[in-house]
Amino acid sequence: MVLDCTDNFATRHLLNRACARLRRPLVSGAAIRFDAQVMVFDLRDPESACYACLFPENGEVEEVQCSVMGVFAPMTGVIGAMQAMEALKLLTGIGESLNGRLLLLDAKSADWRSVRVKKDAACAVCAQPSR
Ligand SMILES: [Zn+2]
Repeated sequence: MVLDCTDNFATRHLLNRACARLRRPLVSGAAIRFDAQVMVFDLRDPESACYACLFPENGEVEEVQCSVMGVFAPMTGVIGAMQAMEALKLLTGIGESLNGRLLLLDAKSADWRSVRVKKDAACAVCAQPSR
């Protein structure tokens, strides 16, 4: 299992590719300004989406980093704790994993939202047959 606590897309995509190739769960967390997200990609399951299904490697996503944009500090603790919780659930098989859902936190309103994430049949990382 890998917990991604990095702050740039190059590293995130590298970790995602490694997890997809080795079929390891990836527990990803991100926080910027007052917004944060937690995701689980349980790549042991061939039907599971991967990070690139959600954020394609060649996507037009603007790189924003905490070191430049700032981050509401307590949020990193909240997201880190959520990642630890999901990791322990995966390791022990307790409860229902966050796999297949993107959990979004808006710290200003203290609102959590959950969005379903589906595997992209054309994903450059996980849709390829393994060799
Ligand atoms: Zn994918």
